[in-house]
Amino acid sequence: MIEVLPLGGMNEIGKNMTAIGFDGKYIIVDMGIRLDSILAFEDVEIGKMTKEELVNINAIPDDSMLHGKKVEAIVLTHGHLDHVGAVGKLAATYNAPIYGTPFTSEITKHIIKEESGPTPRLDLRRHIPPGDTVDVGKISVEFIPITHSILQTSAILIRKGEESILVASDFKLDDEPLLGYKTDTKRLEEIGKEGLLAAMVGSVRLDEEGPTGSEAQAKEMLRDAMNDAFTTRGLVFVTTFSSHITRLKSIVDLAFELGRTPVMIGRSMRSYTKIAMHLDLVDFPAELQILGRPNAVRNILKKIEQSRSDYVLICTGHQGEPTSVLTRIADGRIPPSIKNGDEVIYSASVIPNPINQSNRAIQETKLEAQGAHIHRNVHVSGHAGRVDTAEFLSMIKPEHIIPCHGTPEKLRTMAELSRQIGYSGKQVHIFGNGISLKLGG
Ligand SMILES: [Zn+2]
Repeated sequence: MIEVLPLGGMNEIGKNMTAIGFDGKYIIVDMGIRLDSILAFEDVEIGKMTKEELVNINAIPDDSMLHGKKVEAIVLTHGHLDHVGAVGKLAATYNAPIYGTPFTSEITKHIIKEESGPTPRLDLRRHIPPGDTVDVGKISVEFIPITHSILQTSAILIRKGEESILVASDFKLDDEPLLGYKTDTKRLEEIGKEGLLAAMVGSVRLDEEGPTGSEAQAKEMLRDAMNDAFTTRGLVFVTTFSSHITRLKSIVDLAFELGRTPVMIGRSMRSYTKIAMHLDLVDFPAELQILGRPNAVRNILKKIEQSRSDYVLICTGHQGEPTSVLTRIADGRIPPSIKNGDEVIYSASVIPNPINQSNRAIQETKLEAQGAHIHRNVHVSGHAGRVDTAEFLSMIKPEHIIPCHGTPEKLRTMAELSRQIGYSGKQVHIFGNGISLKLGG
């Protein structure tokens, strides 16, 4: 019998965490935060807040149901904050090894190091090469390569004896990911043939028909936007996710190809790209400047101010985050000033919650008021839509489907989609955080 106990990520976007139990022994998959809960409270510093305070503002999962239970391992699917951002606060309770692909584990270590306050003692050295399986007692845990908007993402197959469950929260099917691997469809089809008792399947983007565009398409969209922007002879800004190494690589390559000097600035940009380079996951041209320290940033920004039409400034701030580089430039807090003819390319969509939407609207208003021209949504998503999710389900053929990582509406859309492809009501399970579901014999 498999027990599925979600502690976060059900009826919400963010703070993903699920415990999978076999005979009272558990594997935890992910420990994420909810960014909108944190953004809702100004001055929140995760490192300075206690676990209880963070649970109370709905920023991290309430895992009290698991206390006293035997947790054999913590397994991480990928390095986004909504999947690993709470490891520093929650993992120490369990005294269990933490497994992840090298990029995921290194990012998690970095996130914990950045939090102020005492660093918890965690076993984060278990780097699992994508595609490998680890045995945790009698439970096997397989890291199945899958594409998403961050490198080295996995779907996790957890098996004991004849019974198995696949946790596939964030994924897309991308034939041209440009960097890293494609989703291992061959292995997914094998899993379908071997017999899969259940699958937890993410529903973040099920409000879109799909299929979701490939990263190669995103690069072509960027090429058009950057080509267009370069004709104005103003300063060009491109902003995207600092963890999206593939996208950053496309922006850098296009800038050189189209005849401008790219400069990447911001602390998180520097940290994430350094981790990817250290693990040999990406190759940036040696002449690329990646600057994170305040003095170095200030110096290069002054230099750029003198020679605006030579540069592309790659920076943080696509969600209008108040402390990001782009917001500080828009506010006039740091150079360069925004002038007529400057261009801002957003290679990201706005995460649809009221805080991000209002932050971004304020940022755009300030940029436009100073004369900048804006290119929005030069981006493809990291999540499958309805068509590609149906294709994914047809490969893995689970007996039971558990929609996860989504608002109530998105979870219902997954249930509807499951019925359309032939599942009965009894095979699809929608339930909440803190509720346990038992499946199998
Ligand atoms: Zn993700």
